[in-house]
Amino acid sequence: MEERIAQAEMVLVGLGEEFDDACAVRDAAEFRRGRDLLQSRELNWLLPAWGAYCARRLKTDRRAALQKLAGMLKGKNFFLVSVSVGEDLKRVFDGGRTVSPCGSIERKQCGRGCGEEIRPLEKEEFDLLKELFEKLWSDGVWPEEFEGLGSCGRCHGPMVLNNVYAGQYDEKGYLDDWNRYTKWLQGTVNRRLLLLELGVSMGFPTVIRMPFEKIAAYNQKAFLYRVNEKLYQIPEELLSKGVGISENAIDWTGRL
Ligand SMILES: [Zn+2]
Repeated sequence: MEERIAQAEMVLVGLGEEFDDACAVRDAAEFRRGRDLLQSRELNWLLPAWGAYCARRLKTDRRAALQKLAGMLKGKNFFLVSVSVGEDLKRVFDGGRTVSPCGSIERKQCGRGCGEEIRPLEKEEFDLLKELFEKLWSDGVWPEEFEGLGSCGRCHGPMVLNNVYAGQYDEKGYLDDWNRYTKWLQGTVNRRLLLLELGVSMGFPTVIRMPFEKIAAYNQKAFLYRVNEKLYQIPEELLSKGVGISENAIDWTGRL
């Protein structure tokens, strides 16, 4: 593995659902209680933020694993595409080299999807969520009157977090990053490309799993690592160009 990394000219990382905070804390009673309550109020767009809050309280290994990965990628020509939704990856990795098509817990959009501009959360909004999550954690309550993070300047609907769990997900929040990613991909042709697919399940197969297999098949010098607790198998035609590792991706990444 170390040798493959050292020899790679380019590294493409796919970060999957195993890196979701909500996945790491799924067995905690407080998380489940809060999740059920938010779901019953149709506030699914808050679930990744609630997961991130619980993960901070429970001190999960996700952050340390990401730091390890960032250390390994230092100085490398890499790109990271993520279907996990959590704290902004731009703070851990070089900002111009990540894309999160499933969105963010740090930006907001109109909940009705009217096309209003997507904006970063204000400090007061982070503080408000933290306060509400604290009550949700300790007392299992959520205010009846809560609809969203203020109202839309255009249609007066509630503003919600800009992620795939919003009913009317506004995808323009990641488009600039996505364009940078596709440009970067064009430069991988005929290069020694290492593909690291970490904890990617079947939630959004067209974002990472399927394209990574295609890239590994077409690029003569590519090699694919697929790390996943259960879905680690790789297709037969890639057996000479890849390896499947049956392990939790956070544990595996933490040992890099
Ligand atoms: Zn609106």
